[in-house]
Amino acid sequence: MKRITIAIDGHSSCGKSTMAKNLARELGYIYIDTGAMYRSVTLYAMQNGLIGAGHAIDTEGLRQAMPKIDITFKFNPETGRPDTYLNGKCVEKEIRTLEVSNNVSPIATLGFVREAMVRKQRLMGREGGVILDGRDIGTVVFPDAELKIFVTASDEIRARRRYDELIAKGEDVRYEDILKNVRERDYIDTHRDISPLTQAADAIVLDNSNLTIPEQQEWLLKLTKEAVSASE
Ligand code: C5P
Repeated sequence: MKRITIAIDGHSSCGKSTMAKNLARELGYIYIDTGAMYRSVTLYAMQNGLIGAGHAIDTEGLRQAMPKIDITFKFNPETGRPDTYLNGKCVEKEIRTLEVSNNVSPIATLGFVREAMVRKQRLMGREGGVILDGRDIGTVVFPDAELKIFVTASDEIRARRRYDELIAKGEDVRYEDILKNVRERDYIDTHRDISPLTQAADAIVLDNSNLTIPEQQEWLLKLTKEAVSASE
């Protein structure tokens, strides 16, 4: 069976990574969480004094630091998904905090950051048999992907899911702050100059507001099988 490239794009916190991770496991594909890469750059910037008050970024400092930022993934059999490593250290927990979420979208508007991440994503996915989730996968990173999905759900449902996730991890967060973050990130992601979040013309839309995870997986697996047959 041909090993295709699957692009899953969409709004913040709509379950893209759960879909991608489950499908990757089912198919034996590699899963690349591109949001984790932008989050890792953000964490690096926060840890190295490159983000000041009011989310002001030391752009020149970050540009110079880019060659020193090494991001890798290692599969974790316990969680069934890849853990993210920043310069050799597992940062899976640190990159998911609300503080990182509040700083990541401005970092992701920077052209030199995007260029470095896209180059790495293309390299990791060059052999196919890969599922990437993000904002610009079907439009920029792999415009020839055999299957493109664009996922969305209502703001409130997405914020509720993210809130439940953070609370389960022991973070002290308020639902209102998460909702604000989800809306702000969507705004920045859809309005930035470089590679804004937009639905590829050939993407299939999934509004998963009222779907269970198994229902969503079934839908995705059926589409994947069709895309594989069509590409052979
Ligand atoms: O997917 P996740 O919510 O972890 O992504 C975090 C942020 O990284 C997004 O809000 C967006 O600003 C940025 N991002 C991006 N392009 C991608 C993936 C993520 O700009 N391909």
